[in-house]
Amino acid sequence: MEHKIPYKIYLSEDELPKQWYNVRADMKIKPAPLLNPGTGKPVTLEELSHIFCTELAKQELNNDDAYIDIPEEILSFYRMYRPSPLTRAYFLEKALETPAKIYYKFEGNNTSGSHKLNSSIAQAYYAKQQGLKGVTTETGAGQWGTALAMACAYFGLDCKVFMVKCSYEQKPFRREVMRTYGADVTPSPSNTTEVGRKILEEFPGTSGSLGCAISEAVEAAVSHEGYRYVLGSVLSQVLLHQSIIGLESMAACDKYDIKPDIIIGCAGGGSNLGGLISPFMGRKLRGEADYQFIAVEPASCPSLTRGKYVYDFCDTGKVCPLAKMYTLGSGFIPSPNHAGGLRYHGMSSVLSELYDEGLMEARSVEQTAVFAAAQQFARIEGTLPAPESSHAIRVAIDEALKCKETGEEKTILFGLTGTGYFDMVAYQKFNDGQMTDYIPTDEDLAKGFANLPEVK
Ligand SMILES: *Cc1c(COP(=O)(O)O)cnc(C)c1O
Repeated sequence: MEHKIPYKIYLSEDELPKQWYNVRADMKIKPAPLLNPGTGKPVTLEELSHIFCTELAKQELNNDDAYIDIPEEILSFYRMYRPSPLTRAYFLEKALETPAKIYYKFEGNNTSGSHKLNSSIAQAYYAKQQGLKGVTTETGAGQWGTALAMACAYFGLDCKVFMVKCSYEQKPFRREVMRTYGADVTPSPSNTTEVGRKILEEFPGTSGSLGCAISEAVEAAVSHEGYRYVLGSVLSQVLLHQSIIGLESMAACDKYDIKPDIIIGCAGGGSNLGGLISPFMGRKLRGEADYQFIAVEPASCPSLTRGKYVYDFCDTGKVCPLAKMYTLGSGFIPSPNHAGGLRYHGMSSVLSELYDEGLMEARSVEQTAVFAAAQQFARIEGTLPAPESSHAIRVAIDEALKCKETGEEKTILFGLTGTGYFDMVAYQKFNDGQMTDYIPTDEDLAKGFANLPEVK
């Protein structure tokens, strides 16, 4: 078989982008500013710098610079696992008998197993530059904690991870990867923080939640000299770092004259999707090209498709700034879903604004359909995908099947964010036919909306 376009397009080291792209610079309507929960006023750099590293706080507030230089130390770390390949899914196209052309950008080719390393290395770098001792964070399923542990090991920073207790117990291997990289992993809630002790007193035996782990991590950062808090998604700075995914994808596409019609990504807090689509969205915003963008979220946690576009807390403990975003309410507790990385109540304020303006679409999918797509993809294309990534696979397959009906030769690009090796319990449930779908009722959602903060 002869292919004009190779199975895998690898850019050379020299072609690695040297700058991140900040899509906010090209947005006519900027994302709404973060608000100080105490004063209700936009947060200042000074206020943000108490929680985040100063340079990262600056990036968070930067709506103007389209390109930001990637420091050389970060570039050299990126070179260990980047540029990542853009793969033409020839086998999948053939199996689906579709005239569509399908491409995916694979971000699972590093030990952390996902795209999260692209931002953790940047955040650790700026912490080191500032002369900090270490950083604190929370992790649910463990991908972010793993990525941060790797980055901190590289720069010799202390890394304190609060891991939701049930994951700590159920995912011992993730925990051990983090410890191997030198991170200090504490099951949350813990008695090492005031907020943790309070929760333990109120709910003895609780298995913890992401919201509680965030509150503990923030407390640990602000109460220890030389520490700051870092976050793996949702924030605009994280989308900025993840733009490396989209910039490489665009360079690979341009090199082979590939013009995507549809660009698809899974959406938890929005960082991989935002990173993948940013440079393409920039072209769309500047009127240079047009694309259909699709965010895919779990039906069990449908922040874009069923949420409200309002100011909300980013965490259950209500210590972080307020963000305007599509949200289900910071008190919304999604039903157990095996795509742990997609169980966040809100969505990046950049993506929320783009969605609100109709520049991006969103779909929600049920997890059994997602795992069916994951299994099909693993068998046909070889790679065992993460449950989160498989949300994008589901919709890419659905769109390719539509093309089969209409005969349209659309070009589809999707983000394959990670591998699923640590998610075999979920695959086991699916293989045993024991996986169920849960879609919250309007009454369930109303409970989350009832506690939205009032912002004038
Ligand atoms: C965390 C994670 C996601 C979701 O996070 P976003 O910030 O929405 O990108 C998706 N895929 C994988 C593999 C993840 O680990």
